[in-house]
Amino acid sequence: MTARLIDGAALAGTIRADLAIRAGRLATAGHPPGLAVILVGSDAASQVYVRNKVKACEETGIRSMLERHDASLAESALLDRIEALNRDPSVHGILVQLPLPAHIAPARVIAAIAADKDVDGYSVESAGRLLAGLPGFRPCTPWGCLKLIESTGVDLRGKHAVVIGRSNTVGKPMALLLLQADATVTVCHSRSHDLAEHTRRADVVVAAVGRPRTLTAAMVKPGAIVIDVGMNRVPEGEPGAGKLCGDVDFDGVAEIASAITPVPGGVGPMTVAMLMANTVESAERRAEQT
Ligand code: NAP
Repeated sequence: MTARLIDGAALAGTIRADLAIRAGRLATAGHPPGLAVILVGSDAASQVYVRNKVKACEETGIRSMLERHDASLAESALLDRIEALNRDPSVHGILVQLPLPAHIAPARVIAAIAADKDVDGYSVESAGRLLAGLPGFRPCTPWGCLKLIESTGVDLRGKHAVVIGRSNTVGKPMALLLLQADATVTVCHSRSHDLAEHTRRADVVVAAVGRPRTLTAAMVKPGAIVIDVGMNRVPEGEPGAGKLCGDVDFDGVAEIASAITPVPGGVGPMTVAMLMANTVESAERRAEQT
C-alpha cells in the first residue's frame, strides 16, 4: 500500500478530548450539555448507531437522554415528544435516528426540531445556512469528511473535488462544504455519464454511494485523496461475505491514492465526533445567552 491511511478513529479521539474539556467547563458553570436521542422501532443498524452515539456522549461528558419507542408510535405522538424536548432547557440537541417507520414522514419530524437544537444539521434552516455560507449546524458526516481531508494538510483552494452521491444528508452538503473551502466541485450521481472520466480528474474524491467497489483503482488519479463514506456489507459469494465494506475498492485504490480512509475506522467515528461537536457548541451558545 502506498497511500497514507487517514485514521478517522484517532482524529475523532483528538476532537472528542477537546470537546470533553469544553463540556467539563459547561458542567462546572452549571450548564452541562445534553443530547436527546430518539429511536423509533428496532432497525438493527439504527440500534448500533444509537448505542455508539450514547457511548460517545458518556465519554465526552455530554448527558444523553435516550428514548426508545415502539415502531407503532403515531407520528403525532413523536411530534409531541419533539415539542416537549424543544422546550426543555437541559436539552441542547435533538437527534431522531433515521430511517423512521414508513407511516412517519421524516421531513415533518425534522422540521419539528427547533432550529437551535438541530445538531444533525438536517433541517431546511441548517441546509439554507450552509448554502448561504452562514454559521449553523453542519451535517455531521460531510463535516467529518472535510476534517479528514484537512487532516492530510492539503490546501483545497483550486483543487478539483468530485463527490459521488447527491443525498441531502451526505453528497449535497459535502459538495457545499468543499465549495466553501474554495475547491472546484463536481457532483456525480446515478445518472452521471462516465463516472470514471470525472473521478480520474479529481484531486479529492468523496464516495457516498452505498455500493461496494464503486470506485476502483482505474478511476483514481495518482496521488488523489480518497474519502470512503460507504457502509455496506460484502455481498454473498464474495471473499469476506457479510463483512463491513465501503464504496471504494480499498486494496486497489490504496496503491494509487496519496491518502485514503479505511472502513471501518474512517468516516464513521468522525460522524459521531461531529455530532458531539454540534451538541457542545449548541450548549455553549445557550450558556452565553443565560
Ligand atoms: P443515498 O441517499 O442512497 O444516496 C446515494 C447516492 O449515490 C445517490 O445520490 C445516488 O444517485 C448515488 N448513486 C447510486 N448509484 C450510483 C452509481 N452507480 N454511480 C454514481 N452514483 C450513484 O445514500 P447516503 O445516505 O448518501 O449514504 C451513502 C453511503 O454512505 C451509504 O453506504 C451509507 O450507509 C453511508 N453512510 C455512512 C455514514 C457514516 O457515518 N460512515 C453516514 C451516512 C451514510 P441518485 O441520486 O441519482 O439516486
